Amino acid sequence: MPDSSNRQQDRLSTLVPSASIPALPRASTIAVIDPQASAFGYEHRRPDWPWIMVPEGETRTLTLGINAKDPVVLNGPAPDGTVELLHMNRCHVKLNGMRLQIRGMQSTRNIPIDLYQPGRYLRVWVSVKSRLDVHIIAHYVEHGPLLKTRISKEQLRAVIENANAILAPQANVHLVLARESTLSHERIGKRLGLSVEYSSDAVTQEQALLNAHKQTIPTTNWVVNLFLVRGYKGKNKREKKNPLATMSNDGCCIFEDHLHESDTYDTKKAGHTLAHEVSHYLIGANPKPIKDDPAHTSNPNSLMYPHSSGGTRLSRAEIEKMNPSISYVRQLPAIDPFGAPDPDPRWLA
Ligand SMILES: [Zn+2]
Repeated sequence: MPDSSNRQQDRLSTLVPSASIPALPRASTIAVIDPQASAFGYEHRRPDWPWIMVPEGETRTLTLGINAKDPVVLNGPAPDGTVELLHMNRCHVKLNGMRLQIRGMQSTRNIPIDLYQPGRYLRVWVSVKSRLDVHIIAHYVEHGPLLKTRISKEQLRAVIENANAILAPQANVHLVLARESTLSHERIGKRLGLSVEYSSDAVTQEQALLNAHKQTIPTTNWVVNLFLVRGYKGKNKREKKNPLATMSNDGCCIFEDHLHESDTYDTKKAGHTLAHEVSHYLIGANPKPIKDDPAHTSNPNSLMYPHSSGGTRLSRAEIEKMNPSISYVRQLPAIDPFGAPDPDPRWLA
């Protein structure tokens, strides 16, 4: 029974000998009008571009510069718009005029969606991401008698909210306050003075004294122990513009009030610092780090810029490390009956 999808299929076969882009060497590119290159969770950089992150269960839209006169052929989705790969529905795609609406269905990395018009094409890479919760255990540190962190419970909630405004739309990462308590100088076993001091000497390491009070909670999610302190004097010289903080490999974060400059607590700047530190933890903790990728970037617009530029952007590579989508290109595990590691549980669904 001929229907529009069959006609599309016919047109596709005349336009495209195979579904791969290299078969169209003279074709021009269909432009993406929106989002702009600086949008969260979107990257427009060669060779694989554009790329967009879509949270599971949510819809994101690309506005395309398609020619209204010519029909558009979509390669990838079934006639109902569902994209199925390896017998699993990954996302749903709908072209509504110039708007390409993509709904995430199943965590999947790099789903190709191809659009064709006569002489023109566009490949969009879609990474669907499930929600990743990072549980925060907050320790309000009392350095000494009457020397407690000045951040209030309400301010901490605002800081977390501001960090989530950076992380959630880009990586579908959400910080969740799981527990909070006061850590007294009696329990630490030392009066820390006004600032927690970095020292390379393991015996006098004030940072290590705090990290010893790290707690765990029964969860499969990531956990960050956040030690809220009045001041922190780190290994490197003090940055004036934003709160100084440091993150250990095991998720212990020393986080200063930064009230030495004014008495107003800036929850937005603090949220930015928290998003930066948590990103360090997630990027470093990923079991498959990309080699030669340094912890910081040289781009002032980047969240991982080492100085307080206020940049908030995460790159595609950083996002894929923080909250990896599952690859649909199934790699068969090497079978070694004598020493095979446990298979990655994500493959056992
Ligand atoms: Zn950093």
